[in-house]
Amino acid sequence: MRVFSGIQPSGIIHIGNYVGAIKNWVKIQDNYDSIFCIVDYHAITVSYDFKKMPETIFNTAAILLACGIDPDKAKLFIQSDVKEHTELAWILGTYTAYGDLTRMTQFKDKSKQHSDNINSGLFFYPVLMAADILLYKADIVPVGIDQVQHLELTREIARKFNSIVGQTFPEPKEMLSEVPKILGLDGEAKMSKSMNNYISLLESDKDLWDKLRGAKTDEQRIKRTDPGDPDKCNIFNIHKVFSKKDEIDMINIECRRAGIGCVDCKKILYENLLNFITPIREKVEYYKNKKDNVFDILKIGAQSCRKIASLTIEEVKSKMGLLLR
Ligand code: SF4
Repeated sequence: MRVFSGIQPSGIIHIGNYVGAIKNWVKIQDNYDSIFCIVDYHAITVSYDFKKMPETIFNTAAILLACGIDPDKAKLFIQSDVKEHTELAWILGTYTAYGDLTRMTQFKDKSKQHSDNINSGLFFYPVLMAADILLYKADIVPVGIDQVQHLELTREIARKFNSIVGQTFPEPKEMLSEVPKILGLDGEAKMSKSMNNYISLLESDKDLWDKLRGAKTDEQRIKRTDPGDPDKCNIFNIHKVFSKKDEIDMINIECRRAGIGCVDCKKILYENLLNFITPIREKVEYYKNKKDNVFDILKIGAQSCRKIASLTIEEVKSKMGLLLR
């Protein structure tokens, strides 16, 4: 079974990205033919800093490697290094109904967020995503709940292509993360860079504590003697991912009877997050000093993906009457 998944080079990779995607990828690579892609062509559908982009892409690769993506088990590469992604996207665009693209929730949301730059690439984004997946005939795609609609469209495009041109693409299934979504430090919105409510995987010790200290908890706990409800507290949610079972159990009991204050509760989380983040920070530093290693990994990943991608494009073009030979 083949798995394809992509991550945008956004400059900041936070613990929400780790829990929602990267942690899953590290497990998947042991059991599936795994292809992981840094989707730079998706990232350019919104305004970005040209000068910082190479560093952003590099950092994304370094963080993925530091988190445990193993190039001996999975193919890791940059989307724009395999030109067949955009080639197939153009072809699939001719099998995608305009009306279907206008219904995409993410396009509507991003159009509001980036109202000064509603470009055609943003509109065409789901077709490129379909091409990313179908190019490798992936069986399974790990996605967040917000990408399910795009995957449904991918299946729709595959079905239409298969029925008109001939059986070519499998219909990929989604693999939803079992871990509940981590909210941002405001306890309201999804953790995201644009909301500035995140904890980065490269956070410094001081910033980590400053962010946790200001993070929202159960609103009932105004004084230390007020009992609280951990189920209404996002800090407790983050504990569930990064803390030990006995600590989680203790907080669950003590919070309810005001036996632990929020500051002490956050200090436990701080220590656990620090233990988690520190080795990642160190490995990223290592890769920054060995940039050629990372470039080689990405180059080898792109080379082996190109082999698969070129075969798919050849098959597609041949079936569509676009190959003379
Ligand atoms: Fe949240 Fe912990 Fe405070 Fe309870 S003690 S409200 S779980 S931060």
